[in-house]
Amino acid sequence: MNQRIKKQSIIIIGGGVGGLFCGAILSKEGYDVKVFEQHYRIGGGLHLFRRNGIDFETGMHVIGSFQEGGVMNKICSWLGIMDKLSILPSDDDCFELFQIGRDGKIYRYAKGVDRFIDTLARHFPEERENITRYVRAMYDIVDEAKIFHLEHGDFFNHHSEKFMQSVGDFINSFTENETLRAVLALSNPLYGGDQYHTPAYIHSIISSLYIESAARFVGGSQQLADALMNVIRQYGGEVFTRNGVKHIEIENKAITHIKTADNRQYSADWYISTIHPSSLFKLMDTSKIQRSYWQRIDSIPNSYSAFTVYIIFKPETFPYLNYTGYYIDDYSQVWRHYEYQEETFPNGIMYITPPVKMHDKFAQKMIVNCIMPFSVVQKWENTTVGKRGDEYNAFKKRCEQQIINKLDLIFPNIRNSIANVYSATPLTIRDFYNQKEGALYGVKKDCKNIMLSHIPVRTKLKNLLLSGQNINLHGIVGTSLTALNTCGELLGLEYLLDKIKNM
Ligand SMILES: Cc1cc2nc3c(=O)[nH]c(=O)nc-3n(C[C@H](O)[C@H](O)[C@H](O)COP(=O)(O)OP(=O)(O)OC[C@H]3O[C@@H](n4cnc5c(N)ncnc54)[C@H](O)[C@@H]3O)c2cc1C
Repeated sequence: MNQRIKKQSIIIIGGGVGGLFCGAILSKEGYDVKVFEQHYRIGGGLHLFRRNGIDFETGMHVIGSFQEGGVMNKICSWLGIMDKLSILPSDDDCFELFQIGRDGKIYRYAKGVDRFIDTLARHFPEERENITRYVRAMYDIVDEAKIFHLEHGDFFNHHSEKFMQSVGDFINSFTENETLRAVLALSNPLYGGDQYHTPAYIHSIISSLYIESAARFVGGSQQLADALMNVIRQYGGEVFTRNGVKHIEIENKAITHIKTADNRQYSADWYISTIHPSSLFKLMDTSKIQRSYWQRIDSIPNSYSAFTVYIIFKPETFPYLNYTGYYIDDYSQVWRHYEYQEETFPNGIMYITPPVKMHDKFAQKMIVNCIMPFSVVQKWENTTVGKRGDEYNAFKKRCEQQIINKLDLIFPNIRNSIANVYSATPLTIRDFYNQKEGALYGVKKDCKNIMLSHIPVRTKLKNLLLSGQNINLHGIVGTSLTALNTCGELLGLEYLLDKIKNM
């Protein structure tokens, strides 16, 4: 790399997963980096918040590919932070457990291709061949997404038919058995799945990641955010907290400077935005950008939001569970988590007991996520945190109780173990992340019109690049790999991937 590029300066908007990975990579490569985060603490989805002395993760409960040879392991090793992370693999024989209320059946997803197939084939012996074909097809799709193997490749333009098939059609193409179809789709809340629109590549990448290496942070996800921040600082970069970007000034199709919450101006050679594109456009005078460009991106529909319950258990009363649990009343609800009805909410729940130390016998806490569309809380959309009113508070209490009623079906007497309950609604997610409609996973990818939902890293402004979960894929792996793509625009992607691979 030549000296001129080495000295270039970068401003990064948002100190979450994408912003911190971009910041760490570019600092290490010699750029002068400044990251601006609106909250008092960096992290975004990695941020830990505290209630009654107990830390809770906001948005990073299950992780993948941190095992030896995994892509996150390689990136973090190259950044020199892998040994700073405390990670606990989920159980081999069950990293995800699904309970169906109607027939009381319990299905387990087990780790490793063979074990995964064997475990499911016990429920569907006559379907073993079909399950095997399904798993192989998922892995073939992952092979097409070259970046997962740190290879250069065009994600969107060169792919097989299955890659962009709808996830529903993809799963259904392997079996006529309706129960097995439902069982193969059970984890779709993990990616806000829509059977008709979510592309099969999203299902395949996330499912295979967890089949290989589902795990969780011990002591919480903030450790990764802090480690990345330390890399940025170690190479001379700066990370500003409580200093959100309030305005972006544009001239001649380029950003001239930003204004931050502390009323200061900063400028750089390059700017990287990792926040939701609709939130980004609100910071600019959009009349200075090509109208068709920003209107297209601004109008992309978003993924679903969620209602989340945070439970603190009385000491040593509830067992630690080393898997992610799911419950739905009936197989027919597998794709209907987002269909909200006041009386029957939630259609399904996903629960996890985050580990505090390596060999927990008891759980200190539980986080329960339930898909909820933003429209449910829309009537309070103009309110702010702590001032949303009595009706909203009553709504939250009712949802909490309905979710605990579901938990009670899985764990009779769980109420006796509960010390405190807190909750977050789609409005909490919207306001905490500055994420339009509180979308859990950013904009919705639609296989029926992938180019409409595709947001390129390069923008119509000469010195603005995009990164974060809205660009390619959400989650720890999707967002980190997108950070490689974004940084690759400056460093050369092949150069960067080779460096990580050949470390
Ligand atoms: C409830 C929930 C559970 C999840 N569970 C998982 C999981 O188990 N595993 C997984 O892999 N993924 C999970 N995800 C998804 C994961 O958290 C996201 O994909 C990831 O955090 C996206 O990273 P990002 O950098 O795009 O955005 P974020 O991590 O959200 O970072 C964006 C940052 O920008 C900041 N910001 C916004 N506006 C401004 C501004 N104007 N100026 C400065 N800063 C600003 C925000 O405060 C935030 O810190 C979950 C998400 C949610 C909401």
